[in-house]
Amino acid sequence: MKLLVTGGAGYVGSVCAARLVEEGHEVVVVDDLSTGHADAVPEGATFVQADLADAADDLLADGVEGVLHFAAKSLVGESMTDPAKYWDGNVVTSLRLLAAVHRHGVPRLVFSSTAATYGEPEQVPIPESAPTRPTNTYGATKLAIDHAITSYADAHGLAAVSLRYFNVAGAHDRFGERHATETHLIPLVLQVASGLRAQVSIYGDDWPTEDGTCVRDYIHVTDLADAHLLALRHATAGLHRIYNLGNGTGFSVKEVIDACRRVTGHAIPAELAPRRAGDPATLVAAADRARTELGWKPERPDLDTIVADAWRFTQSRLGG
Ligand code: UDP
Repeated sequence: MKLLVTGGAGYVGSVCAARLVEEGHEVVVVDDLSTGHADAVPEGATFVQADLADAADDLLADGVEGVLHFAAKSLVGESMTDPAKYWDGNVVTSLRLLAAVHRHGVPRLVFSSTAATYGEPEQVPIPESAPTRPTNTYGATKLAIDHAITSYADAHGLAAVSLRYFNVAGAHDRFGERHATETHLIPLVLQVASGLRAQVSIYGDDWPTEDGTCVRDYIHVTDLADAHLLALRHATAGLHRIYNLGNGTGFSVKEVIDACRRVTGHAIPAELAPRRAGDPATLVAAADRARTELGWKPERPDLDTIVADAWRFTQSRLGG
């Protein structure tokens, strides 16, 4: 298929673009490089550096059969202090993209949604039927886009799938996580193990969880990418389907730091810090729907495997 991958120079987008190229698809990546890296676009994909909202019309004019939409602002903390960046960068841009998708009759769309759409869950693991009450602006903007996509599927027959990621980690081949300003737990902990950072902060130990630190469901980026390939194949005209992607097991911040200690052999000093605004205590996925309807089966659910792949990537970046 001829596919447009928005945000394909970013972490998840580049891994998905690589998997799509591996599967023989014709891939065009559009990315403004505000957070992505040109050298993360896989060989075999065409790269267009542009602002998506401006370029969508031109990019879709040429018989594109599907869009995988990753381009987004995605930092929870920043979304609380700079909401305009998130409402404009995520919602306005996505509305422009959706309008262009409709104008050019693009039949299918796979959207990068998030567990942050649920907010503090009433029920854990969280099913897709759970109420969506985001506790941060990032989640609210992704939820708004999900609603818009539903309208386009209902009104115009778009075949749409939203994939609600839990905590993505690990690396695929030479593609991994490298943000100029890193805020995610596993890469930060691995920076300590690499000697780039003296210690890691634990954002609160008085949460209502077993050891008092926040619990998350970590999913390997390759497993996540594979779900996008399945979603593309199973997307059905006129339906907007929503799937959670996670392993169904939660690990606390302390458990993640311990896994990093095991994998790297480094002591990794940690200090207690205040809670981070917008964080829910626990996010764990019920991903049965993706398993039964898409036939998705995560192959790398083990936390140490996820951390080991992230560590290999971190070391290769430092070496090269
Ligand atoms: N976290 C932490 N210290 C850090 C970074 C993150 O304690 O330096 C915690 C954060 O509060 C959250 C969990 O680790 O509970 C995962 O955070 P991350 O930013 O990786 O992903 P998020 O769950 O926000 O998408």
